[in-house]
Order: sequence, then C-alpha cells, then structure tokens
Amino acid sequence: MSHPVVVVGAGLSGLQASCLLQQAGLRVLLVEADGRAGGRVMSAGGGAGAHRVDMGPSWFWPDMNPRVERLVQQLQLDHFPQFTEGASLVEAPDGQLYKRMAGWSQGSQRIRGGTQALVEALLARLTDQVQLKLGTRLLSMALQADGVALTLQGVAGTWTQLAAQVIVTLPPRLFAQDLACSPAWPGELMQAMHATPTWMAGHAKFAAVYAQPFWREAGLSGMAMSQRGPMSEIHDASDEHGATAALFGFVGAAPGYRAGVGREALMQQSLAQLVRLFGPQAATPLWCDLKDWAQAPLTATPADHRPLSHHPAYQQAVVPEPWRQRVWLAGTERSAQFGGYLEGALDSAERAVEGLLARRRVDALGEHGLPNMTE
Ligand SMILES: Cc1cc2nc3c(=O)[nH]c(=O)nc-3n(C[C@H](O)[C@H](O)[C@H](O)COP(=O)(O)OP(=O)(O)OC[C@H]3O[C@@H](n4cnc5c(N)ncnc54)[C@H](O)[C@@H]3O)c2cc1C
Repeated sequence: MSHPVVVVGAGLSGLQASCLLQQAGLRVLLVEADGRAGGRVMSAGGGAGAHRVDMGPSWFWPDMNPRVERLVQQLQLDHFPQFTEGASLVEAPDGQLYKRMAGWSQGSQRIRGGTQALVEALLARLTDQVQLKLGTRLLSMALQADGVALTLQGVAGTWTQLAAQVIVTLPPRLFAQDLACSPAWPGELMQAMHATPTWMAGHAKFAAVYAQPFWREAGLSGMAMSQRGPMSEIHDASDEHGATAALFGFVGAAPGYRAGVGREALMQQSLAQLVRLFGPQAATPLWCDLKDWAQAPLTATPADHRPLSHHPAYQQAVVPEPWRQRVWLAGTERSAQFGGYLEGALDSAERAVEGLLARRRVDALGEHGLPNMTE
C-alpha cells in the first residue's frame, strides 16, 4: 500500500485539510502533539452539559469570513450575534468608572455551543480514511526519494513514519523552533519564520460563568474597557438567550507579569475586577478559569511574549526546493489575506490541499498530462 498523506497539527487548519483530503479519496494520518484536537480553538466550562466559554477564538464576521460562514452552514451549526445591548463601562487607571450609553457592535458572530463545536463537527465528519493520532508530536522530517520520513514521538516512544506528502499546519515560529529538517531549510527562510508572530499567542483569557446575567438586568452590556486591569477588555459570553450567563476578558497584563503573579492570584484579581465593574454578584461564579496562551508550548514561543503593536502582515507559505513536491505549509499564519483569523486557517488549508492534489495529478499523468509510465 502507498504511504499516506500526513497532516501535522489538528487545529482548525489541519482538521479542514484532513476533511478535504478525505473528500478527494486519500488516506490520511493526522498527528497532533496535544491530547486534544482544536489547537487555539478551545471552549471550556464547568462539568457535563454546562455552558462553555471560548478560551480561544469567540467571533467570526460573515461579511469578511466567507469560508467560516460556509463551513458553519455545511456542518449545520448555528450562530448568533455577540450581545451588545445596554451601556458599556470604561475603567480609568484610578478605578473611576464611566458609563457609555452607545451600543457597541461590530457584527461579531458567535457559534452556538462555542467555537469548539466547529472542531467537534469536523472530527465527526472524519471516516476511518483519516487516522487521528493525538499525543503524537512531529520532531523531524527527512526528504527521501519515495517520500518524507517523519520522526514522530508518542507515549510509546519515537518511530519513523513514511509519508507520500505532508501538510504541516504549525505556526511558523513553532516550525522554526521545534522541527529539524534534512536537508536543512535555508537559514533566511527559518529566520523569517522566527520573525513571524503567532497570532494571539501572547494573550490570556479569564472567563466566569454565572447563574444569571445580572449585569444585563442592571442595563449593562457586559462590555468594559479598563486601563486598570488585569483585564483590559471584557465581554458578555452568555449563551444565545442569556439562559446561562458568562463574562470573559482579555488579560491585558503582559505575559511576564502574569507568570510572576501566578495563576491563582491572577484569577482572584480578575474576579475582583468583575466585582468592581458589575457588583458583588460577580464574586461568586459557578465556574471560572484562566487560559494563558503564552504558557502553552504548542502555541507560543518565548518570542510571542513580546506584545504586538499591530496585526502582522502574513505571507503565503514558501517551501524551498527540493521539498516543494512533498511538503505544503498551512495554518492561519500562512494566509496572506486572512492571516491570524479562523478564516486564514481554512484559507491556508484549502490552498495546501489544492497544491497537493495538483501535484499528485502531475505525478500520475506526467508533466505533459500523459499517463506516467514509470508509476
Ligand atoms: C485568545 C485567542 C482569541 C482569538 N480570537 C479569535 C477570534 O475571535 N476570531 C478569529 O477568527 N480568530 C481568533 N483567534 C485566532 C484563531 O484561534 C486562530 O486563527 C486559529 O485557531 C488557528 O488555527 P490553526 O489550525 O492555523 O493553528 P493552531 O490552532 O495553532 O493549530 C496548530 C496545531 O498544531 C499542533 N502542534 C504544534 N506543534 C506540533 C508538533 N510538533 N507536532 C504535532 N502537532 C503540533 C498544536 O497542538 C495545534 O493543535 C484567537 C486566538 C486566541 C489564542
């Protein structure tokens, strides 16, 4: 039997690439270093059936994200607008609170059940044509005449997997930091990868689930901007009808400060901030959690601890010769137009799969479209 196509990373990009390769009739091995699929997509909550809050991405924008919208429809998922009714709050450095009556809406949509529902629906689509191996990390790639020899590491140890073709969906910085390639990729290209920030990798989110959206009853949208912190921007994260209530905030304090303060203290400070903003009911959530992406080694590198002043300009992937016939790069940071966003994860996956399938057609038919007699 021929070697499978191997997809590395089961974030949104790797899952979408695997689904598209499956549709094209290919056998796929999907390897994911983490014990869960989803990568930066992560929805969490307290206990079975409880409301889940997005600790990674929450929003998409249908007018700007056609692929996400199409996928949400294809997977028969529902979406609803971010709740923005009521006054928002501004917290000054001295703790003074100001109310802003103007509604705040940017057309942001949320997926019912959390963004993780996208990942779960994609996983449910995979047939036994796609073998998903969680807890399996790619360490190195060696180019051979008949494919790529991948060194993989799992709980049982390290082994070599031969791949006909490979799609690597790691953020460029992780690729440059963690993967050894033989023959080596040009130093200039590796430096460019090191210099490419992983979107949101330096961020952290705090979320709290409540029995009631008590802020709504007080005429507040749940949205707040703070110059005091530790959260700099807070939003309502309740379900569609507010039946299960939640707030989340981006922790604006820098990764170094967060690491120094420690997780428990930071959670206490975040809860105290919610009390300052929304009153004493905020002190007793049913569930709360903090996800610090800067401390997630399968997302962030130390270079991602430096704050970004603007959205980086991402570029389409360049694979050096002689790897071009065998390896494709995907992942949101490889999308020139939508880099950083969920849309970019899908865009880059589509492009990588298109390139790979075109290459296989050439390999099967020969460069001139005639059947390849050596196959
Ligand atoms: C806090 C936060 C908020 C965000 N908000 C939004 C938002 O509102 N809207 C939006 O559009 N986007 C948002 N984003 C960005 C969005 O999450 C990403 O664009 C998207 O999830 C990237 O998907 P990906 O598959 O390209 O990469 P990833 O999700 O990073 O997937 C890469 C996968 O590779 C795995 N991996 C790493 N190393 C190895 C290895 N050596 N071997 C095997 N597997 C490996 C990782 O574990 C991971 O599963 C946000 C991100 C964060 C962190």
